[in-house]
Amino acid sequence: LSYCRFGNDSDVYLYEHINDFIQCCACRLTAATEHGFDNRNFKTVWEAHAHLVEHQKAGHKVPKYALKRLRGEMTQAQLKKSA
Ligand SMILES: [Zn+2]
Repeated sequence: LSYCRFGNDSDVYLYEHINDFIQCCACRLTAATEHGFDNRNFKTVWEAHAHLVEHQKAGHKVPKYALKRLRGEMTQAQLKKSA
């Protein structure tokens, strides 16, 4: 399930990879090669959230709902840890 996809409101395509990590697909924060942009992988929702903030700082469009969903998952993961 994707957090956000490329579109009018998004310069980022972030989704849950089947191999249990979160991937920023064709990430514009990577150096562009002749094949386009590379993917970036994140093991935790914290890393993925920090990465979306980096995109915002770079002036890229990041949908609010993607950040909101990651923050919700961060809270849930935190609750699980302390349970
Ligand atoms: Zn990225």
